[in-house]
Amino acid sequence: MVFADIIIDISVKSLDKTFQYRVPEELEGEVETGSLVLVPFGSGNRQLKGYVVNLTDKPKFDISRTKSIAGIEKQGVPAESHLLALAGWIKQNYGASMNDAIKAVMPVKREVRGQAGKTVFPLVDKKRLEELAMQFEVKHNTARARVLRCLLGLSGEMYYNGVDYNYITRELKCPKSVVDGLGQMGIIKTSATKKYRNPSSLWAGREEERHKLNEEQQYITSTVLSDYSDGIRKTYLIHGVTGSGKTEVYMNIIEGVLSYGKQVIVLIPEIALTFQTVNRFYSRFGERVSVIHSRLSAGERYDQFTRAKEGLVDIMIGPRSALFVPFKNLGLIVVDEEHETSYQSETPPKYHAREVAIQRAEMLGASVLLGSATPSLEAYYRAKKGIYRLFTLKKRAGGAHLPETHIVDLREEFKNKNYSVFSKKLTALIEERLKKHEQAVIFINRRGYAGFISCRQCGESIGCPHCSVSLKPHMHRGVVDRLRCHFCGYEIPVPGACPSCGSKYIGTFGIGTQQVEETAHKLFPGARILRMDADTTGGKEGHGKILSQFADGGADILIGTQMVVKGHDFPNVTLAGIIAADLSLNAGDYRAAERTYQLVAQAAGRAGRGDKKGEVVLQTYQPGHYSIVHAANQDYESFYEQEISVREMLQYPPVSNILGVLVFSVNEESASKLAAVIAEMAGQYQDVTVLGPSDAPVAKAKDIYRKMVYGKCMDYGTLCSVKDCIEAFKEQDTEYKDCGINFEFNIIR
Ligand code: ADP
Ligand code: ZN
Ligand code: ZN
Repeated sequence: MVFADIIIDISVKSLDKTFQYRVPEELEGEVETGSLVLVPFGSGNRQLKGYVVNLTDKPKFDISRTKSIAGIEKQGVPAESHLLALAGWIKQNYGASMNDAIKAVMPVKREVRGQAGKTVFPLVDKKRLEELAMQFEVKHNTARARVLRCLLGLSGEMYYNGVDYNYITRELKCPKSVVDGLGQMGIIKTSATKKYRNPSSLWAGREEERHKLNEEQQYITSTVLSDYSDGIRKTYLIHGVTGSGKTEVYMNIIEGVLSYGKQVIVLIPEIALTFQTVNRFYSRFGERVSVIHSRLSAGERYDQFTRAKEGLVDIMIGPRSALFVPFKNLGLIVVDEEHETSYQSETPPKYHAREVAIQRAEMLGASVLLGSATPSLEAYYRAKKGIYRLFTLKKRAGGAHLPETHIVDLREEFKNKNYSVFSKKLTALIEERLKKHEQAVIFINRRGYAGFISCRQCGESIGCPHCSVSLKPHMHRGVVDRLRCHFCGYEIPVPGACPSCGSKYIGTFGIGTQQVEETAHKLFPGARILRMDADTTGGKEGHGKILSQFADGGADILIGTQMVVKGHDFPNVTLAGIIAADLSLNAGDYRAAERTYQLVAQAAGRAGRGDKKGEVVLQTYQPGHYSIVHAANQDYESFYEQEISVREMLQYPPVSNILGVLVFSVNEESASKLAAVIAEMAGQYQDVTVLGPSDAPVAKAKDIYRKMVYGKCMDYGTLCSVKDCIEAFKEQDTEYKDCGINFEFNIIR
């Protein structure tokens, strides 16, 4: 007998509440997760519609009292149905409760009362608004002036995003009449939904010119669109260096897809979601573009989704969560910068947006367009196998040249007694820029920072002999006493000298942005220096503020972590310096070389995007490492060949698959025991290689102990079965009630 858990009313927040019905024999096999069904409800057995969210053979209640599904509704299946089916797929492929999976695909409606969700936007530019504010102040129109001052406080692109209406009426204590008055004067506008204003009305005549596509761009566009008109739906990967004109290609393909009456989702990592990018879409497609970003509240996000469902929007741009917009006729999903780590969800269900995008497109008969300057190994591997169609853009569009790259060997600097974080070469080139009034970006690779031990003389970090990842220092009473592999648990005491060259200069690598800034002030007195890291940005808005300040020529040198490499175009930057390019090689996971290649290639891509030629200084302890050498040459193909052979040898993804099971509990013994039980369960599967249990990278967080077990297997489906088996065990178990479990596929941290 089969039973179905059904959500009766989808429109409300009660997604958690399901009702169980029997699936009648004649409907078995037809009723699936996501099916819209008719069920008798309540004491009067009123017939209502409901969605199946789960199928099981275990009844929750007395079978004799369980009602049966009356029928399937096949006509006009709504978007929710697909999304629920997608949630089912996510649950099955990533391991999560159905509830968490549904919450990931459906923004929960939050009851927002009255005025909430209204935003006040400026209708004039900053200069004019400043004049008006002064006039009001002179006339002692203080409430009006307060509103304008508040808008003037918004920096850079945030200016056009406006301010929350409630903030103005409640916090600034400016009554509705004041806001309305300013509106009648044409100074501001109040709008029901918060979104990027279409600035073309403000900057009439400054619309982006439409470029004539070059040959490579034209080839991609016409191939994809002719596939589309032939009814062929598939996944394409565009590999093109930064500035090669990928966005231009997306827009042309989008235009073609829209002409079939279809809608398009454009995924962009949050950090790259700048005013510049969004504005390009606006000036091309106008008001039918909408944007989702993290500053929207749950309620506002819900409103955006509703607008999309009602057909008021054709293109939705946004980060990971924009993937679940309930379009009626989805035709295409673009995933820009598909290699970005932010596409990986960090909370259960730990899905990857690229994979879910492909699945959603497949369910709906849409195509997927992936793009990157530094594709993920996953995407490139599949493209090489012909699963995706691969396109390449080799040149920078608009004629800009790739920068010249200098590799500096930090071991030589050390030998020559230059202990500064700035090499001789980098110092000289920065001085040159300062003279020429050009700008420099200094990039500190924070990934893996201080999380490993390395030798200052030869640069070796101490690695695990079994896993080809760095050993992590293990602190005991504030002292690093042991080194441990977080993958297999291998452990050694901290050696007194470098195992490779015998030098005593070993330790954690301790540079941070602040230290680099201090050194820069000493080396380049008089230079205007901006620092950007988690401390100086103060949330996402601060991040945009510093970048626009720098873009406007507000500083000579910008020092920052990997955030600085994303998004912005700085035409006057002609030098990019990377302080320790290989730091990320020690990150302790199998993607270390891939991340290093990406970070270095993307950072190098920051220099020389305008007319002036750029230079890059790459400081490294491992000048011969393939990720460094190939990144310096922007030679992705060679990097890929070498990296994929490593993955093949060690059976890492994308060649194979890895299931990580995180066991956590306040009781360490209990967590250890359950982890051991899980390791044994996984070991029952012949094709699965089990690693661990061992401590998780963060072994204890907020008094919760964390253990990891890994299972490796060629076949993803087998790992899903292992997960199912563990889930089933946990459901019945009574011994480990104090433990929780999370699953992660193909992630190692
Ligand atoms: P990507 O998305 O690959 O970084 P973009 O599409 O942003 O590249 O293009 C980089 C720059 O080159 C942009 O300023 C864009 O306007 C310009 N561009 C793109 N295609 C062309 C073209 N065919 N001719 C001239 N300029 C172009
Ligand atoms: Zn050494
Ligand atoms: Zn190991």
